[in-house]
Amino acid sequence: MIDRELAHSPKNYAPLPLVIDRGEGAWVWDVDGNRYLDCMAAYSAANFGHANERFLAAAKAQLERVTITSRALHATPLGPFLEALASLAGKELVLPMNTGAEANETAVKIARKWGYTVKGVAEGRAKVVAMRKNFHGRTTTMISMSDDPLARENYGPYTPGFELVDFGDVDQLRAAIDDDTVAVMLEPIQGEAGIIVPPDGYLQKVRELTRERNVLLVCDEVQTGLGRTGATFRHQAEGIEADLITVGKSLGAGIVPVSAVIGDSDVMGVLAPGTHGSTFGGNPMAAAIALAVCQELATGEPQERSRTLGERLHAGLARRVGSGVSEVRGMGLWAGVDIDPAYGSAKDICLGLLARGVLAKDTQARTIRFAPPFVVGADEIDLLLREFGAVLDARRP
Ligand SMILES: *Cc1c(COP(=O)(O)O)cnc(C)c1O
Repeated sequence: MIDRELAHSPKNYAPLPLVIDRGEGAWVWDVDGNRYLDCMAAYSAANFGHANERFLAAAKAQLERVTITSRALHATPLGPFLEALASLAGKELVLPMNTGAEANETAVKIARKWGYTVKGVAEGRAKVVAMRKNFHGRTTTMISMSDDPLARENYGPYTPGFELVDFGDVDQLRAAIDDDTVAVMLEPIQGEAGIIVPPDGYLQKVRELTRERNVLLVCDEVQTGLGRTGATFRHQAEGIEADLITVGKSLGAGIVPVSAVIGDSDVMGVLAPGTHGSTFGGNPMAAAIALAVCQELATGEPQERSRTLGERLHAGLARRVGSGVSEVRGMGLWAGVDIDPAYGSAKDICLGLLARGVLAKDTQARTIRFAPPFVVGADEIDLLLREFGAVLDARRP
């Protein structure tokens, strides 16, 4: 199975050496019947767990009605989905796309168009200020605002119109904003960079600054959003409102890809028929599943589970600081754990965890990300902590 995949796949991934055959809740099984606690949750696309009955039921019901119409027509689940997501965010409008990268591309397009048609920036001059170490996706324009050599090298020429500043540094941001700046774009907590939480008060200052300078604030909540940090949207939990919010990943309940840009009509109103679109964006199948996800989030229960179980996870991880762990960051069921290099690389620890039935992924050379689905129980968090401790103890220098 692995041989066939490797023989016919370019080497843009280096997967762990196991073949998953089935998933249920927070667990997955490989082809040999071994069971693993899934603390990767497909980069947070599987936040609601595998084979979740509620979402399977929504998917099955829609599967038998109609799955694709294109937006040249109206379809029954779309209106309720848009209304539910808008209401979750406290905004007016929702533009559904498919992937996180596409939602972010869409946000950049909207911000630029707003810049030219509302703010009055001269044609071709719009600038978006983004953050060093950001991750906004893999398309040509998204990598053009990346500073990760692996993501960028040999993919140029790059899309112009971006300037990068250090995440967390308000003075740099203030200096970078000029009259042509249409937007500041950031992840409220940087995920792929290693779950980097900005200093207290930073997001509030960014919001004040962008308001003052008539610049849009775009929050990429593709990974931080929809409960992962214990809140529906991380930036709102920090007490600020964004002009544009992007979401993706678990919005499709791990069943279909679905993403969206969320905002108010003063900004998103710049779009007119023919100026932007997507064949699959907002298709009835995706809309029906995403509607069920929004309804689930509207109860507040997933966020609450992420918050309370996250406290248990973080308390347990904090106890390892000084014996194998140098730092723990994050919120809710989301933890970036820096491994003391004397104990090995993050990848070494992940392979150790794999051998003990726990799936976790290194994100930087030193950092492991734990992101179990919200359906885990307290006993499973304890199991994760126990196995992690055992792997570290076995490698104690
Ligand atoms: C995963 C991710 C993306 C990209 O999403 P895709 O669906 O893979 O295109 C964008 N932004 C953030 C913050 C992400 O974590």
